[in-house]
Amino acid sequence: MASVTFEKVTRRFASGGRPAVDSLDLDIEDGEFMVLLGPSGCGKSTCLRLLAGLEDVDSGSIHIGVRDVTHLPPRERDVAMVFQNYALYPHLSAADNIGFALRIARMPRKRARQRVQFAASVLDMEDYLGRRPRSLSGGEQQRVATGRALVRDPRAYLMDEPLSNLDARLRVETRAQIVRMQHHLGITTVYVTHDQTEAMSMGDRLAVLKDGVLQQVGRPREVFARPANTFVGGFIGSPAMNLFRLPLSAEGVRLGTLDVPLPRGVLRAATAERSARIVVGVRPEQFEVLPPQDRTTPALDLVVEAVEDTGAVVYVHASARSGEGLGDIVVRLPGRPTHTQGAPLRVALRPDDMHCFSAVTGLRLE
Ligand code: ATP
Repeated sequence: MASVTFEKVTRRFASGGRPAVDSLDLDIEDGEFMVLLGPSGCGKSTCLRLLAGLEDVDSGSIHIGVRDVTHLPPRERDVAMVFQNYALYPHLSAADNIGFALRIARMPRKRARQRVQFAASVLDMEDYLGRRPRSLSGGEQQRVATGRALVRDPRAYLMDEPLSNLDARLRVETRAQIVRMQHHLGITTVYVTHDQTEAMSMGDRLAVLKDGVLQQVGRPREVFARPANTFVGGFIGSPAMNLFRLPLSAEGVRLGTLDVPLPRGVLRAATAERSARIVVGVRPEQFEVLPPQDRTTPALDLVVEAVEDTGAVVYVHASARSGEGLGDIVVRLPGRPTHTQGAPLRVALRPDDMHCFSAVTGLRLE
């Protein structure tokens, strides 16, 4: 087991172009499950490949434990990688696929068999060890691929979107299993995904990347509750946080017909930037939907444009009757859908439930 440290790591594919990974500093603790998260092309796979030694860094260094592995070939790094594409040997049984690397390493047969048995029990796949990949479901093949990494007892597991070929139900099942396995073994794991739900539910911590640049590192709850900038605010959470570019007033912001006071510090930081605007983020569940008979509570007057009923939760897309900087607004409705298209909707907002960002830099304002 070992910690993993990226120090000022940069990798540029095209000379003169934007780096795929730009001066990355990241400390992953021993035994931690770290998720690298971001949209397609943000550089997360490149980070993993740099760590595995499948790509060379242009500058910076990578340590696994106390060892500087920056210039070591992949086989000397002692990491095990699970890819999106399982690449199992079709002519070998699940057990032989799992034990293949052990055979190559000439591990005594009895010990190798014990290892395979152990991996099979951790991943709950003893029933199909004798079967070939073709007769296994996607989820089962995924477990065999994970088992193959597991038997090697590496210093770290590196996983690149290993669940992306599975259907929704299997994804949920398998991700719980990977987390259980990781907690059981306590081996440092770096897991790449673009799926924020997967990241939130699996990671001890998340590292959010955009355009090769690290945006925020933290526990899933922290990142959700206090996104460092508008990008993270909009990326984490589903449906996405509403982001409004609002005019500043003397004491706060003008949200349609509502004047919402802002904390002193935020107001001070916003005015120091000499911007007449501020970006306010509100999650769909942070609006308080007022009952129709309430005409006194100060509220934002909306009109329902569309109703989205997911079964468990109802969201409405609405527009403001008046107000600058307000576009499509998504609001989570409490309970069952009672609103229809064109219906009025009044929502209130507590200042504490607003996330405030600079209209100039996009950074969170304290
Ligand atoms: P995805 O989720 O789509 O896999 P990602 O976040 O993992 O994306 P990377 O695969 O790390 O992103 O790619 C980051 C950037 O580097 C992209 O712009 C990509 O086009 C570029 N890139 C990656 N590998 C190479 C390569 N071998 N040659 C040239 N450019 C590359």
